[in-house]
Amino acid sequence: MSKIIIVDDSVTMRQQVKRALEPGQFEIVEAVDGQDGLDKVKADKDIDVMILDINMPRMNGIELAEALHAEGRIAAGLKIVMLTTEGHADLIQRAKTAGAKGWIVKPFKPEMLLAAVQKMAA
Ligand SMILES: [Mg+2]
Repeated sequence: MSKIIIVDDSVTMRQQVKRALEPGQFEIVEAVDGQDGLDKVKADKDIDVMILDINMPRMNGIELAEALHAEGRIAAGLKIVMLTTEGHADLIQRAKTAGAKGWIVKPFKPEMLLAAVQKMAA
């Protein structure tokens, strides 16, 4: 079973994402900001997919993706889907360079997010 981490500072958004992923029967963990996400991913090698917000306190999503890239975790197979209100080309480019494989804009369609995660978790 694939393990998914939802990294978002909004509890409402984390609940929406969890609900969207319910049909996939994934194991799901949550992180409340980028630093929490970094700590949890470093401590858990079983996490396969990360759903990642950008605007968060302590460490933003781009910084988190870059930190995981630098640690070799992307090369080791972690897949990142950005889930954000941001659409700036430079941010998208930075996320791609760090290894992010998907970009979904909020508000999102639950079935779109589920399909993206199912593809990456396969
Ligand atoms: Mg946020």
